[in-house]
Amino acid sequence: MTSYDLFVIGGGSGGVRAARIAARHGARVALAEHDRIGGTCVIRGCVPKKLMVLAARFGDAFADSAAFGWTHGEAKFDWTAFRRNMHREIDRLNAAYIKNLDAAGVTIIHDHATVEGPGRVRLRDAGENVEARNILIATGGHANRLPDIRGSELAIVSDAMFELERLPASILIVGAGYVAIEFASVMAGLGVKTTLLQRGSAILTDFDQDVRREMQAAMERRGVEIVLRDELAGIDRRDAGLLARTREGRDFPAETVLLAIGRTPNTTGIGLEEAGVALDGEGSVIVDEHSQSTAPGIFAIGDVTNKLALTPVAIREGHTLADRLFGGGTAVVDHRNVPHAVFGTPEIGCVGLGEEEARAEHPELDIYQTSFRPMGAQLAGSDEKMMMKLVVDATTDRVLGCHIIGPDGAEMVQMVAIAVKMGAAKADFDATMALHPTAAEELVTMREPTRRHRREAKE
Ligand code: FAD
Repeated sequence: MTSYDLFVIGGGSGGVRAARIAARHGARVALAEHDRIGGTCVIRGCVPKKLMVLAARFGDAFADSAAFGWTHGEAKFDWTAFRRNMHREIDRLNAAYIKNLDAAGVTIIHDHATVEGPGRVRLRDAGENVEARNILIATGGHANRLPDIRGSELAIVSDAMFELERLPASILIVGAGYVAIEFASVMAGLGVKTTLLQRGSAILTDFDQDVRREMQAAMERRGVEIVLRDELAGIDRRDAGLLARTREGRDFPAETVLLAIGRTPNTTGIGLEEAGVALDGEGSVIVDEHSQSTAPGIFAIGDVTNKLALTPVAIREGHTLADRLFGGGTAVVDHRNVPHAVFGTPEIGCVGLGEEEARAEHPELDIYQTSFRPMGAQLAGSDEKMMMKLVVDATTDRVLGCHIIGPDGAEMVQMVAIAVKMGAAKADFDATMALHPTAAEELVTMREPTRRHRREAKE
């Protein structure tokens, strides 16, 4: 029976990195992938999604350009041409991932793999077992559907957004997490009549309250209809499209219904529990800070652990684990202060604590907040706004969080994240010279707190 030092199940962001680094350390490594190498991020997530976001933003650029003296013919969007180019880029990245694995000496196995027990993996299509001293579960997750809702099989999930034969005239998006918001922005930007249906009372529930409020207002200004406190009850076929019904009795005719209601880790039917790997209530693999599951020799990283479902987190976990198993590494992945974004239009970038979260943890807080029209929007006469917010611990002066909505908000937050991670104080921001004229200079020129929170001392 073939034997490996490391057998990786899943060729996505985390699995590919772990396999490559382990092989570079001299380990005998195999990686099984039952779909395309690259996983969610490259094939049906971050990368094609961001390309769609960029495509959708040209409409605003064309409209604004007139104020800058440009004239051009009528702007038209060709979905087929865009989709072809988007898939060419996906194919390029897929090939690059395969090439890098090959170059590192990783054996790529195109098969569905399951755990047969500690130290043993079953390859379904090949019908054979292989031995491995270490097994890494990097199987990611899949989009949730609503099997109990009548007609939900007529709806699509995010994977299908990258395969649409043509742009629908109208779309109903169920959910209000970042994936829902991003696709709503894309669709509205491409001229699709877009409605967002959210069970709760706000969009982006885990985000800072001002960010949520600003984002909702901005999306509504851009023509997205946002329906809160109601949920999908059923979907029927109607004429050429669909008719979605809600619990409150509303009807939404739409050509396409997209379910963007969260993801579930890929842990069922792959032999985990039989091998002694404990799962939590949501089906995620329970791991310690070294990505070790409850079964000796079986590890898990990335979305399947449901720690923080982000590509850089999966990559860092995979890299750190490979270094530890085969390179003498001792590092532990720090999941605090991980920057994250919503690539909607406008764009959101966040790092650290939101105001409400910080209030729960810190008795004395100062909030610095500013809202303004970026220079380009001012000239173009567009209603685009930018909002920036710093959450500061008034006792230590430490910056606990930074939240930005507006053009390039995510790019700015990536850089601010270094300062936040280093434990920068508000005084360090103040001491940093502004770079003029930029929008980001506002981050170092906010002098007076907009609000102060002081928790009353208990009698
Ligand atoms: P995955 O990338 O999902 O890889 C798992 C792989 O395992 C898959 O290729 C799967 O086919 C394979 N597999 C599963 N079971 C088996 C088996 N039994 N045998 C063989 N192969 C198997 N993150 C960001 O950081 N930024 C973003 O902008 C962003 N945008 C996103 C947009 C969308 C629409 C979605 C859905 C996700 C987005 N994410 C984003 C999240 C990001 O894609 C994931 O966090 C990341 O891909 C997780 O990597 P992973 O290695 O854990 O899993």
